[in-house]
Amino acid sequence: MSLANKLAEERRARLAAERLLEQKQAELQDANRKLGLHARALSHEIHETRAEVAEVRDENRRVKSDLTVAHQKIEIAERRLWHSIQTIEGGFAFFDADSRMIAANHAWLAVFEGIEDVKPGISYVEILQIITEEGIVNIGDMTPQGWRERMLDRWQGTTPQPEVLRLWNGQYIRLIDQRGHGGDVVSLVHNITGSIRQEKELREARRRAEAASRAKSAFLANMSHEIRTPLNGVVGMADLLMESTLDEEQSLYVNTIRHSAEALLVIINDVLDYSKIEADKLVLHPEPFDLEVCIQELVTLMQAHARDKGIDLLVDYDLFLPTRLVGDPGRVRQILTNLLGNAVKFTEAGHVLIRVTGVQAGEGAEVDLRISIEDTGIGIPADKIGHIFGEFNQVDDAQSRKFEGTGLGLSITRKLVRLMGGDIWVESEPGQGSTFGFSLLLPVAEAGQPEGLPLAPGLRRALVVEPHDISRALLERQLGALGFVVTACRNGAAALDIAPGADLVVTAHAMSGMDGIELTQALRGAGHAMPIILLTASSGSLAQHPVRTLLQAVLQRPLARRDLIAALAALAPPDGAPADPARAMRVLAAEDNKTNRLVFSKMVQALDIDLHFAENGREAVALFQSLAPDIVFMDISMPEMDGKEATRAIRTIEAREGGHVPIVAMTAHAMSGDDADILAAGLDHYLTKPLSRAVIVDHIRAAAPFDARPPEAEVVQVAG
Ligand code: ADP
Repeated sequence: MSLANKLAEERRARLAAERLLEQKQAELQDANRKLGLHARALSHEIHETRAEVAEVRDENRRVKSDLTVAHQKIEIAERRLWHSIQTIEGGFAFFDADSRMIAANHAWLAVFEGIEDVKPGISYVEILQIITEEGIVNIGDMTPQGWRERMLDRWQGTTPQPEVLRLWNGQYIRLIDQRGHGGDVVSLVHNITGSIRQEKELREARRRAEAASRAKSAFLANMSHEIRTPLNGVVGMADLLMESTLDEEQSLYVNTIRHSAEALLVIINDVLDYSKIEADKLVLHPEPFDLEVCIQELVTLMQAHARDKGIDLLVDYDLFLPTRLVGDPGRVRQILTNLLGNAVKFTEAGHVLIRVTGVQAGEGAEVDLRISIEDTGIGIPADKIGHIFGEFNQVDDAQSRKFEGTGLGLSITRKLVRLMGGDIWVESEPGQGSTFGFSLLLPVAEAGQPEGLPLAPGLRRALVVEPHDISRALLERQLGALGFVVTACRNGAAALDIAPGADLVVTAHAMSGMDGIELTQALRGAGHAMPIILLTASSGSLAQHPVRTLLQAVLQRPLARRDLIAALAALAPPDGAPADPARAMRVLAAEDNKTNRLVFSKMVQALDIDLHFAENGREAVALFQSLAPDIVFMDISMPEMDGKEATRAIRTIEAREGGHVPIVAMTAHAMSGDDADILAAGLDHYLTKPLSRAVIVDHIRAAAPFDARPPEAEVVQVAG
């Protein structure tokens, strides 16, 4: 190679080297720059981290101090809490889930009186063991083992029931243990010795009060009995005296005796009832009863008195209302007696009308009754109306003195009505009259009573002969409701004119001009054969009257719907007269008191009956067997064997041999519950002394058997 070439080559190589150098230098520079940048970034980072570290350190320091403060606070709170727990009177302890004591205050530990083992760490089982070993708790008849098991069972329950323990020193404590989350138990102990003692004292006070109240009730019952027994003698004998021949002055005296005795009886009953209601002792005894019959019986009882005063007593029982209801018949009767008694008492002329209406409720299972007693008496001034239901309140003292009474009647009546869930009200116009109304919601005794009746063929047109306006309207309505086309007139003469068109005649007995009997005779005389029903206030006296054979039925006033329906249902051609029965009715009366035996025999002396007396229950049972009486009147309290026992004995004999003799209780007791008790013994009826002659005769009449002579055969006098 030439030199020139060599030089050129060298130059090229040098140039190339120079370029490489340049390139490398540039690269180096770049790297240097990057390094510088990185170094800057790094130094920045380091700086930041340093700041952060400082911050965290500060924070740490702060938290630490906060923590210290918090710790101090907790300590203080804990100390205070514990102090409080120590201070409270009740015992307080904690147990952990393994039933080991964590802590307990002095009061809790006090029970253990310094037994050192009882301290935090001890288990509940060990505590129970110590309790029984040291006799700390009075465990009664239980064995220590049994007691511990019972207590442990209780403790382990999820919600242990509070437990009262008696300690060895007579103190009582109540344990309340509460299981919390995680099985911890807080155990509280209250000393309840004070309240137990108080409770005991209260119980004792209550026992004494109840004993006193029982003594009072018994005293009242006794008083009532003691007063009624001699009153029976007074009333009965006065009754009999009144029927003997007396001059005017004598009969005034006797009347006064009778009247005073009756007034005394009313007062005894009122005071008795009042104290019973006040003492919340009055209990209702609901049973099925016939409301209409109950009203009719009451009206029958009051009829004589009303008639003496010239007042008509009328009943309007809604034909479409059920009559068999469930209630306390005695108390319903008492309410009605009070209101009816007042109405008659405060009425001088006109009428007293009992109206029973109502609507069926609860799909016919109940009746919402409205019973009103309307009178045409003296009325009550508006400003007094608000007071008459209060105790011992009478409208006008001066005027009331004319009418006797305690002023308790309406107050008792209202209490009774309210006790039965009803209400009572009054509307009155002085000089015009008053209407007392009350509501009662009573269940119907039997569903689906037969209402109305299918009329016998050919019975469509009824003729009512009745002089009294309200009675006539009632009859028209009743017969109309039964499906009759009714024509009505006021007297016999008018009836004779229109009778030819009638299929049935219903006539009053007592009428001016031509009475019911004369009308019957005239109709039959004129050849009319339609059935005739006579309504009379004294059906008994017609029993033997020749006109009886001309009549299809004789119905007692006030007319009971039941009787009317029965008479209409029985309308069939009259049978031949019954054969003359041979024997007299046999009546047995058991009564230990001699005076009362005399009263009884005098009361029934006019009857054609065969009367026997027993002087105690044993004799009554013996006579029942030898005599086979048709009815028994049974005094309840008698020596040797009382009336209830005797009745049970008679019922036992009957259960064996068949039959059922009506037994009527006669008692001087009038406390609530007596009647239920007596009826439960198997007696059919219940009379309280003093006895009423009319009621006794009614019972005898009702029991008359077909094969005996009618008991009233000898009183065949018919009043025109
Ligand atoms: P008493 O025993 O006096 O009859 P009540 O509580 O039964 O007591 O009646 C209170 C008073 O209310 C009666 O004294 C009478 O003044 C008045 N009173 C009650 N019912 C009637 C009535 N039907 N007509 C007029 N006043 C009546």
